[in-house]
Amino acid sequence: MQTSRVLNRPGALASALVAVALAGLALPVSAFAMQQSALLIEDVTLIDGRGGPAIEGAWVSIEDDRIVRISRGPIEAADGAQRIDGSGRFLIPGLMDIHIHLSGGFGQGSPNQNAGRRALHGFLYSGITSVYDAGNNPDFIFSFRDRERSGAIASPRVFASGGVVTAPGGHGAGLGGTLIDSWPEAIPLLDAHLAREPDLVKFTFDEHGWGTRPLIPLLDPEVMARAVAYINERGTRTTAHISHEYRARQAIAAGLNTLAHPIIQGPVSDEFVGLMSSTRTPMASTLTIGEGYSRLVEHPEFLDQPLYRDVYSRERIAELKGPIRDGYAARAWTTWMKVMTPVAQENLRQIHAAGGVIALGSDQSSGPQTHRELELMVAGGISEVDAIRIGTLNAAGFLGLENELGSIEEGKLADLVLLGADPLADISNTQRIEVVIKAGRIIDRAALEVPANLTP
Ligand SMILES: [Zn+2]
Repeated sequence: MQTSRVLNRPGALASALVAVALAGLALPVSAFAMQQSALLIEDVTLIDGRGGPAIEGAWVSIEDDRIVRISRGPIEAADGAQRIDGSGRFLIPGLMDIHIHLSGGFGQGSPNQNAGRRALHGFLYSGITSVYDAGNNPDFIFSFRDRERSGAIASPRVFASGGVVTAPGGHGAGLGGTLIDSWPEAIPLLDAHLAREPDLVKFTFDEHGWGTRPLIPLLDPEVMARAVAYINERGTRTTAHISHEYRARQAIAAGLNTLAHPIIQGPVSDEFVGLMSSTRTPMASTLTIGEGYSRLVEHPEFLDQPLYRDVYSRERIAELKGPIRDGYAARAWTTWMKVMTPVAQENLRQIHAAGGVIALGSDQSSGPQTHRELELMVAGGISEVDAIRIGTLNAAGFLGLENELGSIEEGKLADLVLLGADPLADISNTQRIEVVIKAGRIIDRAALEVPANLTP
């Protein structure tokens, strides 16, 4: 029920916008999304998100917010349809990042509405049409979710957990989450948590003691299992922050629906790979956050690539190349993550190869870093076409929305990205973005609040 309520709104919004336009008013969204009601993408190479080979010479017809027809040859345009010439271009589903923490919710000077809005604009500019925020200031993130769903702001679709559920003193407890340690005392706390309508409830299940981190309290696995059952019975999915195979096994046994990270503390066992394959528990990839430290120290020139220069301000790039880089260079954590990232990459590759479900999550808050996640998966031995599936259909599956989002199929919501170069030849070509479509509307990328549009 919640799903259809969430996803049916764009159509309702379009009618509302027409009415508003006739009345001579303008909603903010009209500056960002074109108001055409039908689109025909002609003669394009289609990479549909399901992992199969690319289809050349495809035609894709969109009416209102849905894909209505896909053909291997010319088809008639609907009345009044806007035509897009797809020849020499590549159509993929809108990318989905199912582990972000939107900038501006926490930290100095927070909540910072401008930081959150700019990050959302940067995601949309970068072809990311859905994000799931896996833990943030609840008032901050749910307010952005409300504004996205009402059409008041230009934004990817926003899915969010709000605060996390953990033990007193547990991972993330300091950020104002829901703290539980016994049953049934946890019930009223969970009721209050669910009253905010999180899209997934995020647990943290990690006692640290790894990398450079001291030990902290851990949620009682039996209390967690009861809480998960209680939440699932009320129709809401769950995810768990884990980092070790043993805790991931306990989380799956406790009924957690998804895992918010790969295993980073060491190589996975064959038995765990088998468990991930047989349960098909979706696991977020989150390689970018750990690799990002040594990447900045050793290769700061990545910030000169076009998409980073479009989305990051000159001041931010200078700060990253200067004091932030110096800080990372001095941290043992940077070295630990550099050593362990290839282990996490290989763990993901093995689980994927065995038929497990990996979903793209960057654990960051910028569009270019979502693309970095694709590069790291391919560098770890996952094929380009599978990496795109991980960043689209598998990510939709993580959210339980694979019937509505994540692939280019008749009947699905029309969230699409048209690329100027082949992402199956080089995964970095997902950054060669020419057109972004959300809910069947072309996004006016030139109207988004990103440095590319603000610098003269
Ligand atoms: Zn996270």
